[in-house]
Amino acid sequence: MISISPSSANTWMKCAGSASLKSLVPRDDETDAAREGTTAHWVAQQILLSYQGTQILTASQFVGQTHNDVEITHEMCEAVEIYVMDVLKIVQQHGALQTLQIEQRINPSTKIHPENRGFFDAGFYDPGTMTLFVWDFKYGHGFVDVFENWSMLNYAIGLLELIFTDNGKQVPPEITIKMRIVQPRCFTPAGIIREWSINEGNELRGFANRMHHQAHIAMSPGAPTATGTHCGYCRARHICPALLDASQIAMDVIGTSTPIDLPPQSMSVELKFLNRAFEIIKARKDAIEADAIAKMESGIDIPGFEMKVNYGIPYWSKPNDEILALGAAFGINLIDEKLCSPSDAKKRGVDVAVVNEYTSKRISSKKLKPVNSTIVNEVFKP
Ligand code: SF4
Repeated sequence: MISISPSSANTWMKCAGSASLKSLVPRDDETDAAREGTTAHWVAQQILLSYQGTQILTASQFVGQTHNDVEITHEMCEAVEIYVMDVLKIVQQHGALQTLQIEQRINPSTKIHPENRGFFDAGFYDPGTMTLFVWDFKYGHGFVDVFENWSMLNYAIGLLELIFTDNGKQVPPEITIKMRIVQPRCFTPAGIIREWSINEGNELRGFANRMHHQAHIAMSPGAPTATGTHCGYCRARHICPALLDASQIAMDVIGTSTPIDLPPQSMSVELKFLNRAFEIIKARKDAIEADAIAKMESGIDIPGFEMKVNYGIPYWSKPNDEILALGAAFGINLIDEKLCSPSDAKKRGVDVAVVNEYTSKRISSKKLKPVNSTIVNEVFKP
């Protein structure tokens, strides 16, 4: 099914054809990073919802629990706390705790397209100051700019439609829209909390018109593709002919010789070009690598490459009472305020082989490693 979700708006607004191409690629290959992000969002949602109820939850209460097959760590909870505190601080300044909307579904069918459906992280409208706040919590490390961010604009348009249009009211043009990205694990001069503020009447309507136009192109047969840095976020990059062409052209141009002593202006232009070419080639390489790993896992040999699997830190894979019984069998205390980690248990003297039997490790990454192969050697021979 073709999807033009708000969360992928930064891709389909730049490449209309990505919507239909992505519909050809199954979604079941969610990466570890994506599952971690989903879990971090779930923890944040539970805490924010608890503030609207009677029993307030804190992030530390979730440490050690598992959700979506991902262990909730201290690091994750610290990131969640930064986001939750930012939302609560502004919500309390505006006395808007009970009107705060958390992980709500939006479908701005009038302003954008009937197929434009998704969820935003948090937001509310304060009628006193005529201000709409929208948040996007980003758990990943890669910098996400808030300025002219199409997903944020899409969330704002959807939230306004939910609050006003769906209730038969006109959206007042005087409204100020404040879009905030909270990205606790991305350290840049712009800070980990970034805000972009615009006016509804003068600015948001213009963006909404552009989204309406592009969404209808994206949902039409034969929508055109356009490569760029957004390809790095596209699920279809390993089957995309446009990206294949662009990466081959980029490789050809990189391979041509240029004078060594470039004047500053030419150097600047070439550096910009190389940065863009690098992003395009990287997007293609990441996609092909992920596809090759999936094929290897299904038993297909990729000549000249082998898969290297890296594992994360071990975690206890048996119930707590069995771990405590293990400690007792060795005459070693394995609990202080809470159960110690497997590596602590080894340091305290529990037999290493026995600890290993009581633990598991999650795969942290899978990499392809070139190996000696006549086919690859043939391709790259001087
Ligand atoms: S890889 Fe790039 S050009 Fe191809 S469909 Fe995706 S976003 Fe568009």
